[in-house]
Amino acid sequence: MTSLSLGGYMSNQKYEPVIGLEMHVELNTKSKMFCRCSADYFGREPNTHTCPICLGLPGALPYINKVAIEDCIKIGLALNCTVSEKSLFERKNYFYPDLPKGYQISQYRWPLCVNGWIEVDDGDGNKRKIRINRVHQEEDTGKLTHSGGVTLIDFNRSGVPLVEIVTEPDFHDVDTVRNYAKKLQRLFRYLGVSNADMERGDMRLEANVSVRPVGQKELPGYRVELKNINSFRFMVAAIEYEIKRQIKELEEGWTLKQETRGWDEDKKSTYLQRSKEEAHDYRYFPEPDLPEIRMKSDEIGKIRKSLPELSWDKQNRFIEEYGVKKSDAEILTELTELAEFFEVTVEHGKKHGVDAKAVANYIVNKKPNISVVLPTQIIEELKGKKVGVIENMGELGELADEVISENPAMVGVYKKGKVTVIQVLIGAIMRKTGGKVNPNKIREILKEKLR
Ligand SMILES: [Zn+2]
Repeated sequence: MTSLSLGGYMSNQKYEPVIGLEMHVELNTKSKMFCRCSADYFGREPNTHTCPICLGLPGALPYINKVAIEDCIKIGLALNCTVSEKSLFERKNYFYPDLPKGYQISQYRWPLCVNGWIEVDDGDGNKRKIRINRVHQEEDTGKLTHSGGVTLIDFNRSGVPLVEIVTEPDFHDVDTVRNYAKKLQRLFRYLGVSNADMERGDMRLEANVSVRPVGQKELPGYRVELKNINSFRFMVAAIEYEIKRQIKELEEGWTLKQETRGWDEDKKSTYLQRSKEEAHDYRYFPEPDLPEIRMKSDEIGKIRKSLPELSWDKQNRFIEEYGVKKSDAEILTELTELAEFFEVTVEHGKKHGVDAKAVANYIVNKKPNISVVLPTQIIEELKGKKVGVIENMGELGELADEVISENPAMVGVYKKGKVTVIQVLIGAIMRKTGGKVNPNKIREILKEKLR
């Protein structure tokens, strides 16, 4: 469905869509949420990352993954949430083969983070404030594969930490939905808490869609939940379709009902899956095998301090500090590595009288491969002058030793399994040398030393 056909309802000013989103993001922790099994299950042989806990065998006792809780809090803090001093896991009971225990350990009445917000651009470049109802911690289920009349089940994913982010119904168009998802994807990558790869299912989206007459302030008395849609593109198509379908039904005098619908990609339409369950159908009750989570304010403060500069803050800073165009700032901050590369290059350029905007231009337009090209080479090209590159292995080794001893906290995190923090160490070396080091080479040296 193109945005052109969307014009149909946009120009029809009688109805306004009301959309709320539930996003699930899988954390990239070393182990699962409630057991020691490796959470790095993608592409592994089925049912090789399992134990009595994540298989739900009788008598197995779960315990809480602290890193996952911290990651969940990081997401909550970045989304301006309040972190609950006391939160609790509950059992969400339902029967389905991908859930061996017969319930999912989730959070319902006492979520970890509540009452946040985030600003998102709509399609016309206006900022919209989206309220975040909650950010809570739960576990993923096993994975079912239906093929040739049989259903296969893989429990490697069972118990992988999952964070759910629920918005208030504050979206009124699909562009804002799309921008929100992109913004959160970037956030997860900046925080280093998830690979946020949609194709692999690291990030999953569910939407609650309804429509109301323009001018009506109350929420509509129903909502249609779009679920089990495995691609982001299909989700947007399903929302667009749903808005049109609902308007048509209302125009024809029907009353819309609470229900769950899926997406048929061949027919390009949504179809009824089931009437919507209510929360009480899940018979939530506190998980008796896990303690409540108590967070002291100094612990929360520590986590807050550990947050990196977030992508949107970096974007604004690039605009203000370097006079970079908004569209360029967006591209430059897409990945922390690229932002880091840009800043090192600017820093180096200063010494040679090269303007930050020229550097931004170069990187945005020429798209240099930053794992091969050096900041110095870019300045050289912009300036037409030779500058030295550090090739001497002894010297590189000394630099690596230096940053390792200067960053004990990062080294600790790395050794615990969060290997992406190596980028921080590379960044430190880049700053020290004004970008005169090949990042790939220094990465290998650091890896060797941190082994
Ligand atoms: Zn396990």
